[in-house]
Amino acid sequence: MRKITIVGAGQAGMLVGVGLIRKGYEVTVISNQTPEEIRNGRVTSSQGMQAIPIQIEREMGLRLWEDIYQPWDGAQFNILNPQDNSTALTFSKLLGARNGASDLVMESIDQRVKMPGWIHRFEELGGKMVYEDADIASLERYSEESDLVLVASGKGDIGKLLKRDDEKSVFDKPMRALGLAYVKGMTPMKTRDHGDIQRGLTWSACPGVGEYFVCNALTTSGECDIMIFEGVPGGPMDILDTRDGPEKYLENCLKILKEFFPEEYARCQNVELTDDMGILSGRFPPTIRKPVLTLPNGKFAMGIADAVCLNDPITGQGACNAAKFAKTVYDAVLKHGQDDFDDNWMQSTFDNYWESAKYCVDFTNAMLVEPTQAMGMFLTACDANQKVADIMFSGMDDAERIHRYLFDEQETAKLIAKLSATPAEQLIAQSA
Ligand SMILES: Cc1cc2nc3c(=O)[nH]c(=O)nc-3n(C[C@H](O)[C@H](O)[C@H](O)COP(=O)(O)OP(=O)(O)OC[C@H]3O[C@@H](n4cnc5c(N)ncnc54)[C@H](O)[C@@H]3O)c2cc1C
Repeated sequence: MRKITIVGAGQAGMLVGVGLIRKGYEVTVISNQTPEEIRNGRVTSSQGMQAIPIQIEREMGLRLWEDIYQPWDGAQFNILNPQDNSTALTFSKLLGARNGASDLVMESIDQRVKMPGWIHRFEELGGKMVYEDADIASLERYSEESDLVLVASGKGDIGKLLKRDDEKSVFDKPMRALGLAYVKGMTPMKTRDHGDIQRGLTWSACPGVGEYFVCNALTTSGECDIMIFEGVPGGPMDILDTRDGPEKYLENCLKILKEFFPEEYARCQNVELTDDMGILSGRFPPTIRKPVLTLPNGKFAMGIADAVCLNDPITGQGACNAAKFAKTVYDAVLKHGQDDFDDNWMQSTFDNYWESAKYCVDFTNAMLVEPTQAMGMFLTACDANQKVADIMFSGMDDAERIHRYLFDEQETAKLIAKLSATPAEQLIAQSA
């Protein structure tokens, strides 16, 4: 029986682990946190998931909360006017059951709920959990005992053993100051085109200041809303710090909303934190790393998901990408049969993943800087034409679908012309 060791019991590690154990592999997952520590610990993410990664979770038999939690009813994007914070552009879409389309699903399940549930399922299936903080010496040990070692450690320090890929990494510093607050008591979202939506996502950008989004989620105490803050570093939104304590932290969240996102502030008159650990602050440089780690004993370990491809959360894609990366690795392991998992296999597995991931990385990086001309045209058209907005929403699940409209104004103009009566030349001239 082939032995696989995975460092990290997160979104990617548990998907590969459970997937492979179901196929008869001997799988050990190393975690530096027990399920109790994860469940009682600090929130980690807003973990909004889309149809493709949800389908991957289904394939691995890990849709454990479908009876108690339904996906979102809708989503809305707003670009605000920096002068007075009024809405300059807005577009929305009904999702899931309200839309009736199975390819338009989004949801969020607190990783403090999800990971303990998945660890429990993994052990039920015969997987072995080891609770320790892996280091380079442990990786060597695992490599002696296993056919394949995967490093799925997320933002954990051990991932920094993997070399930065200078060609693929666009930034060398954090592009946003991040904040999360899990709350109860928020009123439903209001959309221009689809009325009130009880449970969903609103994403708003205040140019030059930052972004704020809020989504429904299942947390340890039932349903909640997650407030997500993406402040330009050093700017007026960069005031969130968990060291201030929960009360002051929430006060600062509301201060940001009152000043820059007044319509969202109006929804928050009665909000309170779900729990004292329902807040997070931090920042990191978006970084792509080389996937192959050569260990001192000459053997190899392979980095996957955030350990290799760490994006800013601005587009809410990291957990989705982790699931897609996990699926690529899972398929490649199965296909490889009894052959050696050498450095060539690791590199080509990553290259295969990168073929689709690069579109998402470009999309995410583009959202962190001044919009391209094409993106400006595309977002303006989303506001004017629901059919263009529909394409934007489908790109949240697969960024390749929208990539050319974000970077090539000719393509954007052609699309808009096709979906409306305006000739492409006129659209380009208008936006120049
Ligand atoms: C503020 C914020 C909001 C986000 N919102 C979204 C969103 O809406 N949608 C989305 O798709 N993504 C979102 N993400 C990103 C998403 O959460 C991550 O990309 C995803 O969880 C990465 O999965 P992973 O398996 O690579 O790592 P993780 O899920 O982080 O798991 C890594 C695990 O490895 C463990 N570990 C680390 N080091 C060691 C070690 N040395 N030994 C043993 N164990 C170790 C950690 O404890 C952890 O359990 C967000 C992230 C942040 C910070």
